[in-house]
Amino acid sequence: MPQAHDETHTYMAGTPMTPLLTVNAITKRFTPNQPPVIKAVSFKVYPGEIFALLGPSGCGKTTTLRIIAGFEKADAGTIFMAERPLANSTLHVPPESRGIGFVFQDYALFPHKNVLENVAFGLRKVPKKTRHTRALEVLEMVGLAALHTRLPHHLSGGEQQRVALARAIVARPKLLLLDEPFSSLDAGLRQTTREEVSTLLKAEGISAVLVTHAQEEALSFAERLAVMKQGRVEQIGTPEAVYHQPKTAYVAGFLGQTNFIHAYVKEGVAETPFGRVKVDSTATGEVLLSIRPECLRMAAPNSEISGVQSGCIVGQAFKGHDFTYRVEMKGQHYFVQTDYRCQFQVGDSVVLKAVSAVPVAPEAEE
Ligand code: ATP
Repeated sequence: MPQAHDETHTYMAGTPMTPLLTVNAITKRFTPNQPPVIKAVSFKVYPGEIFALLGPSGCGKTTTLRIIAGFEKADAGTIFMAERPLANSTLHVPPESRGIGFVFQDYALFPHKNVLENVAFGLRKVPKKTRHTRALEVLEMVGLAALHTRLPHHLSGGEQQRVALARAIVARPKLLLLDEPFSSLDAGLRQTTREEVSTLLKAEGISAVLVTHAQEEALSFAERLAVMKQGRVEQIGTPEAVYHQPKTAYVAGFLGQTNFIHAYVKEGVAETPFGRVKVDSTATGEVLLSIRPECLRMAAPNSEISGVQSGCIVGQAFKGHDFTYRVEMKGQHYFVQTDYRCQFQVGDSVVLKAVSAVPVAPEAEE
């Protein structure tokens, strides 16, 4: 089982930076005879950074977030906010003293308090007048000042989500924890709300940790992400790095459709059913390669792509801006993505050529 390391010592290339949040080897077991649900999870979040925890349902994302917030205690490991310890074997700073804001999936607004009172609740230790002035200021930022007297059930889902966000940032936390906050919004609203939240976080200089099981959401919202599997962090990196240079078959498959093939690599070149392809790695010998559908080129036999095996198109899915074809070659099926102008049909003979391939570690059973 490969162990993930946060290889990014600095968030901004070349600029040494102290992490805002350091999560170090946290482990959590809920039931004595069951394996831990979080196993030595470590990562860092830098000032102003938007970070995501991505993984399938049940992999331990929410538990990790709840431990950072202080709602759960880890069995082992440490948490620091900058230099300040928040949790270790002898210390547990309570949630309200951590300087961390959070937004949950269900917003958790008070139904009998109006919008202003809901937001002002985030400042309950502050004198009432200052509290309302600051709450209105934040409602202005999220575009809801005009609705400040409404009750939550008179707001749309997107508006309720923005009230929850306003409440979470009203006390100016340095770090905001977001647990699937966009999942109950429809697709269009989800994207615009995500963009608005991102702009707001940047404007306010707030770092965030987003929990999501949606790879497209993590890739588009986060500046770095940790891909989790069964309580462990499998890989940490920028969206581009985890998508294009996955270290394991699990990460490659979780982040999008891919083709896995066994190939022989010698001097940086792999022999594949799609021709010889340069492999950006020091791997040699038998390797497992991940080749994304968009990294395969398709052509008629004897056309510009020559010297590779031919196959037959057995499936075609139109996705609007592109096609995904399924090509059978010697009993194996491969996915190929082409642009929407592609003229090939099911039943056509074709050849495939790989333009890039990444060696990945095979999936290990726990
Ligand atoms: P989802 O995306 O479905 O919310 P997740 O990745 O956030 O999943 P967690 O909610 O952290 O996963 O749960 C991880 C594991 O821990 C699951 O198997 C879950 O059943 C278990 N678990 C979570 N909370 C508790 C609890 N309080 N008591 C016992 N088991 C728990």
